[in-house]
Amino acid sequence: MPENTVKVSMEKLVSLCQRRGFIFPSSEIYGGLSGCWDYGPVGVELKRNVKQAWWRSLVQERDDVVGIDSSILMNSRVWEASGHVASFKDPLVECKKCHLRWKADDLTGDKCPSCGGELTEERMFNTMFKTFIGPVEDDAAVVYLRPETAQGMFVNFENVLTTSRKRLPFGIAQQGKAFRNEITTGNFIFRSREFEIMEFEYFVKPGTDERWFNYWVEERLNWYTRFGIKREHLGLSPHPKEKLAHYARACTDIIFAFPHGWAELEGIANRTDFDLKQHAQASGKTLDYYDDETKEHYVPYVIEPSAGVDRAVLAFLCDAYDEEPDKDEMRVVLHFHPDIAPIKVAVLPLSRKENLVSLAKDIHASLRPCFMTQYDDTQSIGRRYRRQDELGTPFCVTVDFQSLEDNMVTIRERDSMNQIRVPIATLKTTLEKKLAGEDIFVLPEGGKIWKEEKT
Ligand code: ATP
Repeated sequence: MPENTVKVSMEKLVSLCQRRGFIFPSSEIYGGLSGCWDYGPVGVELKRNVKQAWWRSLVQERDDVVGIDSSILMNSRVWEASGHVASFKDPLVECKKCHLRWKADDLTGDKCPSCGGELTEERMFNTMFKTFIGPVEDDAAVVYLRPETAQGMFVNFENVLTTSRKRLPFGIAQQGKAFRNEITTGNFIFRSREFEIMEFEYFVKPGTDERWFNYWVEERLNWYTRFGIKREHLGLSPHPKEKLAHYARACTDIIFAFPHGWAELEGIANRTDFDLKQHAQASGKTLDYYDDETKEHYVPYVIEPSAGVDRAVLAFLCDAYDEEPDKDEMRVVLHFHPDIAPIKVAVLPLSRKENLVSLAKDIHASLRPCFMTQYDDTQSIGRRYRRQDELGTPFCVTVDFQSLEDNMVTIRERDSMNQIRVPIATLKTTLEKKLAGEDIFVLPEGGKIWKEEKT
Protein backbone atom coordinates (compact mmCIF):
# COMPACT_ATOMS: atom_id res chain seq x y z
CA MET A 1 0.00 0.00 0.00
CA PRO A 2 1.18 3.54 -0.65
CA GLU A 3 1.96 5.75 2.31
CA ASN A 4 -1.09 6.84 4.32
CA THR A 5 -1.16 10.60 3.76
CA VAL A 6 -4.36 11.43 5.67
CA LYS A 7 -3.55 14.60 7.60
CA VAL A 8 -5.99 14.45 10.45
CA SER A 9 -5.74 12.32 13.57
CA MET A 10 -8.76 10.46 14.89
CA GLU A 11 -8.58 12.50 18.16
CA LYS A 12 -8.96 15.77 16.25
CA LEU A 13 -11.89 14.44 14.23
CA VAL A 14 -13.69 13.04 17.26
CA SER A 15 -13.25 16.33 19.09
CA LEU A 16 -14.46 18.41 16.11
CA CYS A 17 -17.45 16.09 15.67
CA GLN A 18 -18.44 16.43 19.31
CA ARG A 19 -17.79 20.20 19.48
CA ARG A 20 -19.73 21.08 16.36
CA GLY A 21 -22.65 18.66 16.71
CA PHE A 22 -21.75 16.01 14.14
CA ILE A 23 -21.51 12.86 16.28
CA PHE A 24 -21.97 12.08 19.99
CA PRO A 25 -21.46 8.87 21.98
CA SER A 26 -24.78 7.06 22.40
CA SER A 27 -26.50 7.43 25.81
CA GLU A 28 -23.67 9.76 26.82
CA ILE A 29 -25.24 11.00 30.07
CA TYR A 30 -25.28 7.36 31.28
CA GLY A 31 -21.66 6.74 30.38
CA GLY A 32 -22.31 5.69 26.79
CA LEU A 33 -22.89 2.31 25.15
CA SER A 34 -19.90 0.80 23.45
CA GLY A 35 -20.16 0.52 19.68
CA CYS A 36 -23.14 2.89 19.37
CA TRP A 37 -23.16 6.52 18.20
CA ASP A 38 -25.67 9.33 17.77
CA TYR A 39 -25.60 11.80 14.89
CA GLY A 40 -26.22 15.38 16.02
CA PRO A 41 -27.95 18.24 14.15
CA VAL A 42 -25.09 18.70 11.67
CA GLY A 43 -24.07 15.03 11.49
CA VAL A 44 -27.55 13.90 10.56
CA GLU A 45 -27.48 16.27 7.56
CA LEU A 46 -24.04 15.00 6.53
CA LYS A 47 -25.15 11.38 6.75
CA ARG A 48 -28.38 12.05 4.85
CA ASN A 49 -26.39 13.79 2.11
CA VAL A 50 -23.99 10.84 1.77
CA LYS A 51 -26.94 8.47 1.48
CA GLN A 52 -28.73 10.81 -0.92
CA ALA A 53 -25.65 11.12 -3.16
CA TRP A 54 -25.47 7.32 -3.33
CA TRP A 55 -29.22 6.91 -3.95
CA ARG A 56 -29.25 9.61 -6.56
CA SER A 57 -26.34 8.23 -8.57
CA LEU A 58 -27.65 4.64 -8.43
CA VAL A 59 -31.41 4.76 -8.31
CA GLN A 60 -32.34 8.16 -9.72
CA GLU A 61 -29.72 8.67 -12.43
CA ARG A 62 -29.79 5.08 -13.71
CA ASP A 63 -32.48 3.24 -15.56
CA ASP A 64 -31.46 -0.23 -14.43
CA VAL A 65 -31.60 0.03 -10.61
CA VAL A 66 -34.67 0.30 -8.39
CA GLY A 67 -34.83 0.80 -4.63
CA ILE A 68 -36.62 -0.99 -1.82
CA ASP A 69 -36.86 -0.63 1.95
CA SER A 70 -37.33 -4.02 3.58
CA SER A 71 -37.99 -4.74 7.25
CA ILE A 72 -35.19 -5.19 9.77
CA LEU A 73 -36.85 -8.18 11.42
CA MET A 74 -37.41 -11.05 9.02
CA ASN A 75 -38.61 -14.64 9.19
CA SER A 76 -35.76 -16.59 10.84
CA ARG A 77 -35.76 -19.07 7.96
CA VAL A 78 -34.20 -16.31 5.84
CA TRP A 79 -31.06 -16.43 8.00
CA GLU A 80 -30.99 -20.22 8.05
CA ALA A 81 -31.17 -20.36 4.25
CA SER A 82 -28.60 -17.60 3.76
CA GLY A 83 -26.10 -19.45 5.96
CA HIS A 84 -25.93 -16.73 8.64
CA VAL A 85 -27.26 -18.90 11.50
CA ALA A 86 -24.61 -21.52 10.80
CA SER A 87 -21.67 -19.38 9.83
CA PHE A 88 -21.97 -15.65 10.60
CA LYS A 89 -19.41 -16.19 13.31
CA ASP A 90 -16.17 -14.70 14.54
CA PRO A 91 -13.45 -16.54 16.48
CA LEU A 92 -13.45 -15.24 20.07
CA VAL A 93 -10.59 -15.54 22.58
CA GLU A 94 -10.52 -14.25 26.13
CA CYS A 95 -7.57 -13.17 28.26
CA LYS A 96 -7.32 -15.44 31.31
CA LYS A 97 -5.81 -12.60 33.33
CA CYS A 98 -7.69 -9.36 32.50
CA HIS A 99 -10.72 -11.06 30.86
CA LEU A 100 -10.73 -8.73 27.86
CA ARG A 101 -12.19 -10.41 24.77
CA TRP A 102 -10.61 -10.28 21.34
CA LYS A 103 -11.43 -11.32 17.82
CA ALA A 104 -8.72 -13.91 17.10
CA ASP A 105 -8.39 -12.67 13.48
CA ASP A 106 -7.26 -9.25 14.73
CA LEU A 107 -4.37 -10.55 16.86
CA THR A 108 -0.84 -10.98 15.63
CA GLY A 109 0.68 -12.83 18.62
CA ASP A 110 -0.72 -15.41 21.05
CA LYS A 111 -0.79 -13.11 24.10
CA CYS A 112 -3.36 -10.53 25.25
CA PRO A 113 -2.50 -7.20 23.51
CA SER A 114 -3.61 -5.30 26.62
CA CYS A 115 -1.82 -7.06 29.52
CA GLY A 116 0.26 -9.79 27.86
CA GLY A 117 -1.77 -12.49 29.62
CA GLU A 118 -2.47 -15.97 28.28
CA LEU A 119 -5.47 -16.39 25.97
CA THR A 120 -8.20 -19.06 26.00
CA GLU A 121 -8.81 -21.42 23.08
CA GLU A 122 -10.79 -19.92 20.19
CA ARG A 123 -14.52 -20.43 20.25
CA MET A 124 -16.86 -19.39 17.47
CA PHE A 125 -19.31 -16.63 18.36
CA ASN A 126 -22.36 -15.80 16.22
CA THR A 127 -22.44 -12.03 15.82
CA MET A 128 -26.15 -11.75 14.96
CA PHE A 129 -28.24 -10.05 17.66
CA LYS A 130 -31.21 -12.12 18.74
CA THR A 131 -34.55 -10.98 20.07
CA PHE A 132 -38.03 -12.44 20.46
CA ILE A 133 -41.38 -11.85 18.80
CA GLY A 134 -44.27 -11.85 21.27
CA PRO A 135 -44.33 -12.29 25.04
CA VAL A 136 -42.82 -15.79 25.30
CA GLU A 137 -39.06 -15.98 25.01
CA ASP A 138 -38.77 -19.45 23.51
CA ASP A 139 -36.90 -20.78 20.48
CA ALA A 140 -39.95 -20.58 18.23
CA ALA A 141 -40.14 -16.82 18.86
CA VAL A 142 -36.49 -16.02 18.02
CA VAL A 143 -35.86 -13.35 15.41
CA TYR A 144 -32.60 -11.68 14.44
CA LEU A 145 -31.70 -8.04 13.91
CA ARG A 146 -30.37 -8.12 10.36
CA PRO A 147 -26.57 -7.99 10.09
CA GLU A 148 -26.82 -6.75 6.46
CA THR A 149 -29.62 -5.54 4.21
CA ALA A 150 -28.87 -7.89 1.30
CA GLN A 151 -31.26 -10.71 2.23
CA GLY A 152 -34.24 -8.33 2.09
CA MET A 153 -33.41 -7.79 -1.57
CA PHE A 154 -32.95 -11.49 -2.42
CA VAL A 155 -36.24 -12.53 -0.85
CA ASN A 156 -37.99 -9.73 -2.78
CA PHE A 157 -36.38 -10.65 -6.10
CA GLU A 158 -39.59 -12.03 -7.59
CA ASN A 159 -41.77 -9.20 -6.25
CA VAL A 160 -39.47 -6.55 -7.70
CA LEU A 161 -38.98 -8.35 -11.01
CA THR A 162 -42.70 -8.69 -11.69
CA THR A 163 -43.74 -5.24 -10.48
CA SER A 164 -40.90 -3.20 -11.99
CA ARG A 165 -40.81 -5.22 -15.25
CA LYS A 166 -37.03 -4.85 -15.39
CA ARG A 167 -34.97 -7.08 -17.67
CA LEU A 168 -31.46 -8.32 -16.92
CA PRO A 169 -29.09 -6.82 -16.08
CA PHE A 170 -30.81 -4.88 -13.33
CA GLY A 171 -30.24 -4.03 -9.69
CA ILE A 172 -32.12 -3.65 -6.42
CA ALA A 173 -30.72 -1.08 -3.99
CA GLN A 174 -31.33 -0.56 -0.31
CA GLN A 175 -30.05 1.52 2.58
CA GLY A 176 -30.70 0.90 6.23
CA LYS A 177 -29.63 -0.13 9.69
CA ALA A 178 -27.64 -3.29 10.31
CA PHE A 179 -26.57 -4.79 13.62
CA ARG A 180 -23.56 -6.91 14.47
CA ASN A 181 -22.54 -7.99 17.93
CA GLU A 182 -18.90 -7.23 17.16
CA ILE A 183 -16.42 -8.66 19.66
CA THR A 184 -14.40 -5.48 19.62
CA THR A 185 -15.52 -2.09 18.38
CA GLY A 186 -13.50 1.04 17.91
CA ASN A 187 -11.87 3.68 15.78
CA PHE A 188 -14.83 5.99 16.29
CA ILE A 189 -17.68 5.16 13.87
CA PHE A 190 -15.50 2.78 11.83
CA ARG A 191 -16.64 -0.35 13.67
CA SER A 192 -19.88 -0.17 15.63
CA ARG A 193 -22.55 -2.61 16.72
CA GLU A 194 -25.36 -0.61 15.13
CA PHE A 195 -24.54 0.98 11.79
CA GLU A 196 -25.95 1.69 8.37
CA ILE A 197 -25.29 -0.04 5.10
CA MET A 198 -25.98 1.09 1.54
CA GLU A 199 -25.78 -1.84 -0.84
CA PHE A 200 -27.25 -3.20 -4.02
CA GLU A 201 -27.65 -6.52 -5.76
CA TYR A 202 -26.99 -6.30 -9.47
CA PHE A 203 -28.45 -9.35 -11.24
CA VAL A 204 -26.73 -10.43 -14.46
CA LYS A 205 -26.73 -13.26 -16.94
CA PRO A 206 -24.27 -16.01 -15.88
CA GLY A 207 -21.16 -15.68 -18.01
CA THR A 208 -21.33 -11.87 -18.02
CA ASP A 209 -20.62 -11.67 -14.28
CA GLU A 210 -16.88 -11.02 -14.51
CA ARG A 211 -17.37 -8.08 -16.83
CA TRP A 212 -20.02 -6.57 -14.55
CA PHE A 213 -17.88 -7.16 -11.48
CA ASN A 214 -15.03 -5.13 -13.01
CA TYR A 215 -17.48 -2.49 -14.18
CA TRP A 216 -18.88 -1.99 -10.66
CA VAL A 217 -15.45 -1.81 -9.02
CA GLU A 218 -14.62 1.08 -11.36
CA GLU A 219 -18.01 2.78 -10.95
CA ARG A 220 -17.85 2.66 -7.18
CA LEU A 221 -14.34 4.11 -7.11
CA ASN A 222 -15.59 6.94 -9.33
CA TRP A 223 -18.49 7.60 -7.00
CA TYR A 224 -16.18 8.34 -4.07
CA THR A 225 -13.92 10.66 -6.10
CA ARG A 226 -16.93 12.43 -7.65
CA PHE A 227 -17.95 13.58 -4.18
CA GLY A 228 -14.54 14.63 -2.89
CA ILE A 229 -12.57 11.58 -1.76
CA LYS A 230 -8.96 11.84 -2.95
CA ARG A 231 -8.03 9.08 -5.38
CA GLU A 232 -4.68 8.57 -3.65
CA HIS A 233 -6.55 7.73 -0.43
CA LEU A 234 -8.44 4.90 -2.13
CA GLY A 235 -7.09 1.48 -2.91
CA LEU A 236 -8.30 -1.94 -4.03
CA SER A 237 -7.71 -5.07 -2.04
CA PRO A 238 -8.76 -8.21 -3.92
CA HIS A 239 -9.41 -11.21 -1.68
CA PRO A 240 -7.11 -14.12 -2.48
CA LYS A 241 -8.99 -17.20 -3.76
CA GLU A 242 -8.41 -19.19 -0.55
CA LYS A 243 -9.96 -16.42 1.59
CA LEU A 244 -13.18 -16.08 -0.44
CA ALA A 245 -16.50 -17.04 1.12
CA HIS A 246 -17.47 -20.46 -0.26
CA TYR A 247 -20.20 -18.99 -2.48
CA ALA A 248 -18.21 -16.07 -3.87
CA ARG A 249 -16.31 -16.21 -7.11
CA ALA A 250 -14.48 -12.93 -6.51
CA CYS A 251 -14.39 -10.17 -3.91
CA THR A 252 -12.54 -6.87 -3.90
CA ASP A 253 -12.56 -4.38 -1.07
CA ILE A 254 -12.36 -0.67 -1.73
CA ILE A 255 -10.04 0.45 1.04
CA PHE A 256 -9.44 3.96 2.37
CA ALA A 257 -6.51 5.54 4.18
CA PHE A 258 -8.28 6.11 7.52
CA PRO A 259 -6.32 7.79 10.34
CA HIS A 260 -5.90 4.34 11.94
CA GLY A 261 -4.58 2.85 8.70
CA TRP A 262 -5.80 1.39 5.41
CA ALA A 263 -9.12 -0.38 5.98
CA GLU A 264 -12.27 -1.53 4.19
CA LEU A 265 -14.73 1.10 3.07
CA GLU A 266 -16.81 -1.06 0.77
CA GLY A 267 -16.80 -4.70 -0.33
CA ILE A 268 -17.70 -5.74 -3.88
CA ALA A 269 -18.50 -9.43 -4.31
CA ASN A 270 -19.51 -11.73 -7.13
CA ARG A 271 -21.95 -13.92 -5.16
CA THR A 272 -22.87 -16.08 -8.17
CA ASP A 273 -26.38 -17.62 -7.95
CA PHE A 274 -25.83 -18.79 -4.37
CA ASP A 275 -28.39 -16.63 -2.55
CA LEU A 276 -31.29 -16.98 -4.98
CA LYS A 277 -30.74 -20.74 -5.17
CA GLN A 278 -30.58 -21.09 -1.38
CA HIS A 279 -33.83 -19.16 -0.93
CA ALA A 280 -35.54 -21.01 -3.77
CA GLN A 281 -34.63 -24.32 -2.21
CA ALA A 282 -35.56 -23.37 1.36
CA SER A 283 -38.84 -21.61 0.48
CA GLY A 284 -39.95 -23.97 -2.28
CA LYS A 285 -40.56 -20.94 -4.56
CA THR A 286 -39.08 -20.51 -8.01
CA LEU A 287 -36.61 -17.62 -8.07
CA ASP A 288 -35.39 -17.62 -11.62
CA TYR A 289 -35.54 -15.45 -14.71
CA TYR A 290 -37.03 -16.06 -18.14
CA ASP A 291 -34.80 -14.71 -20.87
CA ASP A 292 -37.02 -13.66 -23.82
CA GLU A 293 -34.08 -13.64 -26.21
CA THR A 294 -32.68 -17.09 -25.56
CA LYS A 295 -36.05 -18.54 -24.45
CA GLU A 296 -34.51 -20.13 -21.39
CA HIS A 297 -34.99 -20.02 -17.64
CA TYR A 298 -31.96 -19.50 -15.43
CA VAL A 299 -30.96 -18.19 -12.01
CA PRO A 300 -29.11 -14.88 -12.43
CA TYR A 301 -25.70 -14.26 -10.96
CA VAL A 302 -25.34 -11.28 -8.67
CA ILE A 303 -22.71 -8.61 -8.13
CA GLU A 304 -23.00 -6.94 -4.72
CA PRO A 305 -21.32 -3.61 -3.89
CA SER A 306 -21.85 -3.18 -0.16
CA ALA A 307 -20.76 0.06 1.53
CA GLY A 308 -20.89 1.20 5.13
CA VAL A 309 -22.64 4.57 5.44
CA ASP A 310 -20.78 5.46 8.63
CA ARG A 311 -17.41 4.49 7.16
CA ALA A 312 -18.21 6.66 4.13
CA VAL A 313 -19.13 9.55 6.47
CA LEU A 314 -15.79 9.08 8.26
CA ALA A 315 -13.90 9.02 4.95
CA PHE A 316 -15.64 12.20 3.74
CA LEU A 317 -14.78 13.91 7.04
CA CYS A 318 -11.12 12.81 6.82
CA ASP A 319 -10.62 14.03 3.28
CA ALA A 320 -12.49 17.29 3.84
CA TYR A 321 -10.48 18.21 6.94
CA ASP A 322 -7.75 20.80 6.63
CA GLU A 323 -5.82 23.18 8.83
CA GLU A 324 -4.60 26.29 7.06
CA PRO A 325 -2.48 29.13 8.43
CA ASP A 326 -4.59 32.28 8.25
CA LYS A 327 -2.90 35.49 9.39
CA ASP A 328 -1.60 34.59 12.87
CA GLU A 329 -4.17 31.85 13.49
CA MET A 330 -4.89 28.37 12.22
CA ARG A 331 -8.09 27.97 10.24
CA VAL A 332 -9.79 24.57 10.55
CA VAL A 333 -11.94 23.98 7.51
CA LEU A 334 -13.92 21.09 6.09
CA HIS A 335 -13.72 21.27 2.29
CA PHE A 336 -16.86 19.20 1.67
CA HIS A 337 -18.24 18.82 -1.84
CA PRO A 338 -21.37 21.07 -1.91
CA ASP A 339 -23.67 18.02 -2.23
CA ILE A 340 -22.12 16.46 0.89
CA ALA A 341 -21.87 19.65 3.01
CA PRO A 342 -24.45 19.52 5.83
CA ILE A 343 -25.22 23.26 5.71
CA LYS A 344 -25.09 24.96 2.31
CA VAL A 345 -25.50 28.62 3.24
CA ALA A 346 -25.14 30.66 6.45
CA VAL A 347 -26.76 34.09 6.78
CA LEU A 348 -24.83 36.46 9.04
CA PRO A 349 -25.87 40.05 9.87
CA LEU A 350 -22.78 42.15 10.58
CA SER A 351 -24.24 43.44 13.82
CA ARG A 352 -27.32 42.92 15.98
CA LYS A 353 -28.80 46.34 15.11
CA GLU A 354 -32.52 45.84 14.69
CA ASN A 355 -32.86 46.94 11.07
CA LEU A 356 -29.93 44.71 10.01
CA VAL A 357 -31.27 41.69 11.88
CA SER A 358 -34.68 42.17 10.36
CA LEU A 359 -33.29 42.28 6.80
CA ALA A 360 -31.01 39.28 7.48
CA LYS A 361 -33.94 37.28 8.87
CA ASP A 362 -36.02 38.07 5.80
CA ILE A 363 -33.18 36.91 3.56
CA HIS A 364 -32.78 33.77 5.66
CA ALA A 365 -36.50 33.03 5.41
CA SER A 366 -36.37 33.40 1.62
CA LEU A 367 -33.42 30.96 1.32
CA ARG A 368 -34.66 28.30 3.77
CA PRO A 369 -37.04 26.54 1.37
CA CYS A 370 -34.19 26.12 -1.15
CA PHE A 371 -31.15 25.17 0.91
CA MET A 372 -30.21 23.79 4.33
CA THR A 373 -29.22 27.04 6.01
CA GLN A 374 -28.11 28.48 9.33
CA TYR A 375 -28.64 31.94 10.78
CA ASP A 376 -26.03 33.25 13.21
CA ASP A 377 -25.78 36.70 14.80
CA THR A 378 -23.56 35.91 17.79
CA GLN A 379 -19.92 37.01 18.23
CA SER A 380 -17.64 38.73 15.74
CA ILE A 381 -18.01 38.11 12.02
CA GLY A 382 -14.54 36.49 11.95
CA ARG A 383 -15.53 33.98 14.63
CA ARG A 384 -18.75 33.19 12.78
CA TYR A 385 -16.86 32.56 9.52
CA ARG A 386 -14.55 30.19 11.42
CA ARG A 387 -17.51 28.33 12.86
CA GLN A 388 -19.02 27.86 9.42
CA ASP A 389 -15.61 26.75 8.06
CA GLU A 390 -15.55 24.02 10.71
CA LEU A 391 -19.00 22.87 9.60
CA GLY A 392 -17.88 22.90 5.98
CA THR A 393 -20.53 25.45 4.88
CA PRO A 394 -19.64 26.38 1.27
CA PHE A 395 -21.08 29.94 1.38
CA CYS A 396 -21.71 32.66 3.95
CA VAL A 397 -23.99 35.59 3.14
CA THR A 398 -23.18 38.73 5.09
CA VAL A 399 -25.71 41.50 5.54
CA ASP A 400 -24.11 44.87 6.43
CA PHE A 401 -25.23 48.48 6.86
CA GLN A 402 -24.65 49.23 3.22
CA SER A 403 -27.13 46.44 2.38
CA LEU A 404 -29.87 48.64 3.81
CA GLU A 405 -29.04 51.25 1.18
CA ASP A 406 -27.89 49.35 -1.90
CA ASN A 407 -29.95 46.14 -1.48
CA MET A 408 -26.83 44.07 -1.94
CA VAL A 409 -25.13 41.43 0.23
CA THR A 410 -21.73 39.79 0.34
CA ILE A 411 -21.17 36.13 -0.51
CA ARG A 412 -18.01 34.62 0.97
CA GLU A 413 -16.69 31.39 -0.47
CA ARG A 414 -15.41 28.88 2.10
CA ASP A 415 -12.40 27.48 0.23
CA SER A 416 -10.83 30.62 -1.27
CA MET A 417 -12.38 33.10 1.21
CA ASN A 418 -12.98 35.36 -1.81
CA GLN A 419 -16.01 37.60 -1.56
CA ILE A 420 -18.42 39.03 -4.10
CA ARG A 421 -21.22 41.52 -3.66
CA VAL A 422 -24.55 40.72 -5.32
CA PRO A 423 -28.05 42.25 -5.48
CA ILE A 424 -30.39 40.55 -2.98
CA ALA A 425 -32.78 39.92 -5.87
CA THR A 426 -30.23 37.63 -7.53
CA LEU A 427 -28.99 35.94 -4.33
CA LYS A 428 -30.91 32.66 -4.59
CA THR A 429 -30.04 31.97 -8.22
CA THR A 430 -26.41 33.03 -7.67
CA LEU A 431 -26.10 30.62 -4.73
CA GLU A 432 -27.69 27.83 -6.77
CA LYS A 433 -25.11 28.33 -9.51
CA LYS A 434 -22.18 28.53 -7.10
CA LEU A 435 -23.32 25.34 -5.32
CA ALA A 436 -23.44 23.66 -8.72
CA GLY A 437 -19.78 24.57 -9.24
CA GLU A 438 -19.74 27.98 -10.93
CA ASP A 439 -16.60 30.05 -10.27
CA ILE A 440 -17.09 32.60 -7.48
CA PHE A 441 -15.96 35.46 -9.72
CA VAL A 442 -18.62 34.83 -12.35
CA LEU A 443 -20.93 37.68 -11.38
CA PRO A 444 -24.69 38.14 -11.72
CA GLU A 445 -25.95 41.38 -13.26
CA GLY A 446 -25.12 44.24 -10.92
CA GLY A 447 -22.64 42.13 -8.96
CA LYS A 448 -19.01 43.03 -8.20
CA ILE A 449 -15.85 41.56 -6.72
CA TRP A 450 -15.67 42.58 -3.06
CA LYS A 451 -12.58 41.03 -1.58
CA GLU A 452 -9.91 38.88 -3.17
CA GLU A 453 -8.27 36.82 -0.41
CA LYS A 454 -6.28 34.34 -2.40
CA THR A 455 -6.84 32.43 -5.57
P1 ATP B 1 -14.95 -5.96 8.29
O1 ATP B 1 -14.02 -6.94 7.61
O2 ATP B 1 -14.39 -4.58 8.45
O3 ATP B 1 -15.59 -6.51 9.53
P2 ATP B 1 -16.96 -7.00 6.59
O4 ATP B 1 -16.14 -7.54 5.46
O5 ATP B 1 -17.50 -7.92 7.60
O6 ATP B 1 -16.16 -5.79 7.30
P3 ATP B 1 -19.25 -6.58 5.00
O7 ATP B 1 -19.99 -7.73 5.55
O8 ATP B 1 -18.70 -6.67 3.62
O9 ATP B 1 -18.12 -6.13 6.00
O10 ATP B 1 -20.18 -5.28 5.17
C1 ATP B 1 -20.31 -4.30 4.17
C2 ATP B 1 -19.82 -2.96 4.63
O11 ATP B 1 -20.46 -2.59 5.86
C3 ATP B 1 -18.33 -2.89 4.95
O12 ATP B 1 -17.58 -2.64 3.79
C4 ATP B 1 -18.26 -1.75 5.93
O13 ATP B 1 -18.18 -0.51 5.24
C5 ATP B 1 -19.59 -1.81 6.65
N1 ATP B 1 -19.45 -2.44 7.97
C6 ATP B 1 -19.31 -3.75 8.25
N2 ATP B 1 -19.23 -3.95 9.57
C7 ATP B 1 -19.32 -2.74 10.15
C8 ATP B 1 -19.31 -2.28 11.50
N3 ATP B 1 -19.21 -3.13 12.52
N4 ATP B 1 -19.41 -0.95 11.75
C9 ATP B 1 -19.53 -0.07 10.72
N5 ATP B 1 -19.55 -0.45 9.43
C10 ATP B 1 -19.45 -1.77 9.14
